[in-house]
Amino acid sequence: MKSGKLLLIAFIFVCFSNLNAQKISLERIDPPFWWAGMVHGQLQLMVHGEQISTTHPVIDYPGIKLTQVITVESPNYLFLNLQLSDTVQAGKFVIDFYKKKRKAASYTYELKTRDRRPGRHAGFDNSDVIYLLMPDRFANGDTANDNAPGMLEQADHNNPLGRHGGDIRGIADHLDYLSDLGVTALWINPLLENNMPKQSYHGYAITDYYRIDPRFGTNDDYKRLVETAHKKGLKIIQDMVANHCGTGYYWNNDLPSTDWYNQWPEFTRSNYRVAVQSDPNASPADHDKMVKGWFDYSMADLNQHNPLLAEFLIQNTIWWIEYSGIDGIRQDTYPYPYKDFMARWMQRILKEYPDFNVVGEVWLDYPAVTAYWLDNTTNADGYRSYLTNVFDFPLATAIARAFNEPEGWSTGMMRLYELQSQDFLYSDPMRLVTFADNHDGDRFFTKMQEDFRRFTMGMIFLMTTRGIPQLYYGGEILMTGKEHEGHGYIRKDFPGGWPGDTRNAFTEEGRTEEQQEAFAFMRRLLQWRKSSKAVQYGKLVQYLPENGVYVYFRHFEGETVMVVLNNLQQNREIDLSRFASDLEGYTRGRSVLTRQSFEKLDKLYIPAKSGLVIELEK
Ligand code: CA
Repeated sequence: MKSGKLLLIAFIFVCFSNLNAQKISLERIDPPFWWAGMVHGQLQLMVHGEQISTTHPVIDYPGIKLTQVITVESPNYLFLNLQLSDTVQAGKFVIDFYKKKRKAASYTYELKTRDRRPGRHAGFDNSDVIYLLMPDRFANGDTANDNAPGMLEQADHNNPLGRHGGDIRGIADHLDYLSDLGVTALWINPLLENNMPKQSYHGYAITDYYRIDPRFGTNDDYKRLVETAHKKGLKIIQDMVANHCGTGYYWNNDLPSTDWYNQWPEFTRSNYRVAVQSDPNASPADHDKMVKGWFDYSMADLNQHNPLLAEFLIQNTIWWIEYSGIDGIRQDTYPYPYKDFMARWMQRILKEYPDFNVVGEVWLDYPAVTAYWLDNTTNADGYRSYLTNVFDFPLATAIARAFNEPEGWSTGMMRLYELQSQDFLYSDPMRLVTFADNHDGDRFFTKMQEDFRRFTMGMIFLMTTRGIPQLYYGGEILMTGKEHEGHGYIRKDFPGGWPGDTRNAFTEEGRTEEQQEAFAFMRRLLQWRKSSKAVQYGKLVQYLPENGVYVYFRHFEGETVMVVLNNLQQNREIDLSRFASDLEGYTRGRSVLTRQSFEKLDKLYIPAKSGLVIELEK
């Protein structure tokens, strides 16, 4: 080829590139809208669009000042820092993006009016019982959305790890069932878009932080669900993930900057060693791997030390709280992001919503580690989490063991006693969210070897000891499943949730005899719990288990509940004189579950492998 021709090709190429460089588009702005009157007066807009960084944004609205325009490595992003005055009014305004003197793009931004109805964002507390459900597996209320345009994974009802079609409508359709069961709050596994090619059903690989997955419904459907749930006395706890996002995120192939993700020369997993984050002796290498390692191939590790990403995540959380009216948050993989960021995230939530609650997943069996993450714990390293609630993983493990093993010096009932004897570690043990199973482990009835008596004892303990109890969907009808067989087996469909299901366990007629017995038992326990201030808020006094019998009391302002658990295979009669200081002032009692009366508080008969919950009377 002659050099002249080469020059011509090069010339055309340069012209073409320049033409391309002129092309400007505006794809999206996050957050898509905001509110007037927020406590925090700054707002950061993340603008995405081809070559948007070559433009010059202009905002003209009283009370709003564009204080900073930030460009990053990729030319396709702009970050706008806005200062909102205390008196800024709700309304719409146009953000114009100029290229030289020509208007290249515009976006109509809205500041909405805050919903200031009393009781909004009041959080959850010890009066609540949380019901965890996986939206893809609970009920399919709308088969038309099982597949959705643009979503990579198609529904496959027969694949345990596929999408089954459950949705927001399915939850909304069963709020009366849940309310009748007696739970008061729903923790729903993540509902945000997970546009991943496979195993997207669980929701933990988010690909749009501002969008409900269309296979679950719309953002409006979610907001309506929260409103309807509130009318029925049910709170909603949103599952959030700040540690990682799905690699199907639009930004994955065009990161604002390389450090948007924690990058490694080759794929590097987190070591999943939660202890490292609070370990005063930890090596920097282990710490880095824990915090910066990826959760999975499909889950990119977000770098919250990038200040723009940090603000993106914080504002996203505030946006969902304000937009939807949720009552609480469950934050996934709590110790996996940088802990200074998580504390800052919490502070910003509490600044806007002082009564709000967040429960963090800290999955390790040591109360000392659980305590480290709960707010107001005095940690030797000075770390303060601001986290209002933490899951009590150590108690879940103790429960699984206690009812399954022979009584011994530190086995059986002593597991429960000794675990709770370590409550001194907690700034407030009542803020622990207690549970016997969740979406990541064996189902409780399976852990109890499908023994109904053990199941009832475990549930009695969970519902009457300190903390805020959480159930896992289908536990009330004795659903089973082993984690090691695959996550799909502990996340089966609730029977009756799908058109064509042969049985509908949402109704009494659709339950087997044993399921109905379990449901009725749970319903009685939960409905009673709603009325018992002693069990909700009462001080716990526990007695050393003797001969397989564990006794504890809950006292609250002249109300007392006594709980007796007999973990032996024999019936027992126990002498109550040992409990005199807690029985003082009471003359009789009544069993909450059987209505049986105890006319004298001197001796008490308790059948083998059973629990008694007694309301004491004067
Ligand atoms: Ca559906």
